[in-house]
Amino acid sequence: AKQLLHNSFQFFDAAITDVSIERLQIENLLRRAIERHELLLYYQPKVDRTGQLVGLEALLRWQHPELGMVSPARFIPIAEETGLIVPIGRWVLREVARQVTQWWRDGLKVVPVAVNVSVIQFTQADFAQTVADTVAQTALPFSWLELELTESMLMGQIDDLRRQLGELRQLGVTLAIDDFGTGYSSLSYLHRLPINVLKIDRSFVARLDQDDAGVERSLITTIITLGHHLGVQIVAEGVETAGQRQILFDAGCDVFQGYHISRPLPAGVVRGWLEQNAG
Ligand code: C2E
Ligand code: CA
Ligand code: CA
Ligand code: CA
Repeated sequence: AKQLLHNSFQFFDAAITDVSIERLQIENLLRRAIERHELLLYYQPKVDRTGQLVGLEALLRWQHPELGMVSPARFIPIAEETGLIVPIGRWVLREVARQVTQWWRDGLKVVPVAVNVSVIQFTQADFAQTVADTVAQTALPFSWLELELTESMLMGQIDDLRRQLGELRQLGVTLAIDDFGTGYSSLSYLHRLPINVLKIDRSFVARLDQDDAGVERSLITTIITLGHHLGVQIVAEGVETAGQRQILFDAGCDVFQGYHISRPLPAGVVRGWLEQNAG
């Protein structure tokens, strides 16, 4: 029995080491990803109740020559733990600003682009200033930029957060709460912070068109009613079927995003959406 225990500990050690080595490797490779031009952005369309394009969400992709396409679900947590999310986040902002400027110069009708922001970025006292500088370098108004924050972010150092959100709002940047419903669900902060948009998490949307989804449907209706009462726009993410879209539509949802509308697309492909939008 003692030997067995010993072996299982060895096994345990080895497993931990493997995970740490993988993390270390990803960290080292990620460190060079920006300068090696391995990061790129995909854009996922959002449409309003009439089906018209009203926005895009920028989603980070890491194309490594050997690892292939690495999912953000895998590398963002490592980027956050190591602080690499700060330079990566700056790159995302610059790249979105460059892309939107390009579309605008090409005569396309530009829609607001949403950028995901990690809590680590917000703990930088100069985050709002960085955003202001990046947008000011473009010829565009601040209203093309939307920032998606998660609920859990809003619980932390509320004073500095409120200051930075206030600065961004003052500039005309749109502020959205991402994955709404999965965090602490304290609705009380909504009227204390300058939030414009709530994005209903896709875990709620996914179950909507099942027969036993009564609870989810009431929940969605409550969120939408309350959100509208507070003057915020409601976006549903992860809309995968016509049935889900219809239920959300009937509940009064304003904006729809998900595979049913479009997958995230490379910049060259999303261009087609912008061209249609102008015509
Ligand atoms: P998120 O912000 O909640 O983004 C939505 C995720 O759902 C994206 O995954 C998107 O591709 C996926 N998705 C969109 N529509 C559907 C659908 O209909 N069904 C399903 N099953 N999934 C759908 P992705 O691109 O893998 O990104 C994962 C997460 O990584 C994002 O979740 C976000 O938290 C983070 N992330 C992505 N880009 C950035 C970034 O530039 N900065 C930061 N800080 N985080 C990012
Ligand atoms: Ca998001
Ligand atoms: Ca989300
Ligand atoms: Ca999410």
